[in-house]
Amino acid sequence: MKTVLSVASEVAPLIKTGGLADVTGALPGAMRPEGWRLVTLLPGYPAVMKALKSPRVVRRERACFGGGAQVLAGRAAGLDLLVLDAPHLYERAGSIYLGPDGKDWPDNAERFAALSWVAARLAAEGFEDVKPQVLHAHDWQGGLAPVYLGAMKGGRDVGTLLTVHNIAFHGLAPASKLAALKLPKDGFTPDGFEYWGKISALKGGLIAADRISTVSPTYARELMTPEFGMGLDGVLRQRAGDLTGILNGIDEDLWNPAADPEIVPYRTPAGKAKNRRALLREFGLEDGAGPLCVVVSRLTEQKGLDLLLGALDVLAARGGRLALLGSGSPDLETAWREAAARLPGVAVRIGYDEALAHRMMGGADAILVPSRFEPCGLTQLYGLRYGAVPLVADTGGLADTVIDANAAAMAMGVATGVKFAPVEADPLRFALSRLCDLHADRKTFTTLQRNAMKQPVGWAASAPQYAALYDRIGGRV
Ligand code: ADP
Repeated sequence: MKTVLSVASEVAPLIKTGGLADVTGALPGAMRPEGWRLVTLLPGYPAVMKALKSPRVVRRERACFGGGAQVLAGRAAGLDLLVLDAPHLYERAGSIYLGPDGKDWPDNAERFAALSWVAARLAAEGFEDVKPQVLHAHDWQGGLAPVYLGAMKGGRDVGTLLTVHNIAFHGLAPASKLAALKLPKDGFTPDGFEYWGKISALKGGLIAADRISTVSPTYARELMTPEFGMGLDGVLRQRAGDLTGILNGIDEDLWNPAADPEIVPYRTPAGKAKNRRALLREFGLEDGAGPLCVVVSRLTEQKGLDLLLGALDVLAARGGRLALLGSGSPDLETAWREAAARLPGVAVRIGYDEALAHRMMGGADAILVPSRFEPCGLTQLYGLRYGAVPLVADTGGLADTVIDANAAAMAMGVATGVKFAPVEADPLRFALSRLCDLHADRKTFTTLQRNAMKQPVGWAASAPQYAALYDRIGGRV
């Protein structure tokens, strides 16, 4: 079987902070029927070390970015793994990216350069009689892998793909770290991994990888514009011919309303009623005439939830309810706590809770995703599958996965949600008001829910696209 070495900083269900983990965790299962075996290299965080079953040592590194390390092979959660066991880099309590002060770990550049460097070594030299055809790196944490690989003996036999899950994070490091990061000095130019006097792991990968992909066709186009490219749009325009957008799928076993242990299972919109009542109870909300809306999100500028705070009166006026689960920026956490204290129709849980996220999809009439940018977005896909009608900003993957309930789409029976643009307060208010209108007509709303539940949101369409890309890239061998 053809093999891909996938390298990522998080992989669900072992370690997750966002959608990246969902995708790196689901892709191996989705690609097996396509004839590709994915082996995933990830850092030996405590949770990963604990989960790894019967590990075998496949490689030792005496000097690995500040300490000794070894690479372990084994399985966990049904995944074939290679784990970089480097206690000086990964054996830490708390967040995988942030120290106890809430700021990036000061050695994040070294931590993920080490991961990328070991990935390149494993790709170039193989492991346990396996020689991968493709090295698939994810985001800036894997960005330097194609850079290192290009400079290694045997490296040119392996094709490389870099997937951008979010262009907002570049992995910048000061130029003084060039030697510490084992980077070639001659690559530190505007045509290489230099970015305004700093080292950019993501830019390095964008230039060095054979191919680049991102997680939706619309985001692929947006990335080439100054508005969304976050300073790398020029690089992406240069590489337009090698850039593809492939939509993320969701794990249809894990997110399945007909067999979800967190809810009373259902197959039709009517089956949501019990879960809706339970959700209202869980959040201490009284029912109203309007829709029960949910948000499950990181609380950051990207997600547009500050705009939603300013539009809550629209929901309140129509008897709508809102339950929010999220964590992130302290300012937004406080603002949402205050909104919940002020408004009887709004309830908030600050924190991260997978099981609650399932119950929210099960009980909600609608899910709100007003992101300023959204590479793909997963929660609207969960919403579709669970008949929680998505109200989304018309951007990135949200634009590609939701069909607005305009008159034509309703007449054709294909509408699945509500979209708004531009991502500003007034269009969001108008969209919420439209959602309430749609909800007020029971038949219309049930049709929307049914359409949503029918929409394919798994990997069936995307897996063959990745396979075609791997075949192309791996064909160089
Ligand atoms: P991003 O990766 O930008 O955070 P995505 O929509 O692609 O956004 O993926 C977010 C993932 O994280 C989803 O699986 C979502 O359910 C989950 N998630 C986000 N916040 C929370 C939370 N507070 N509790 C539980 N799950 C969450």
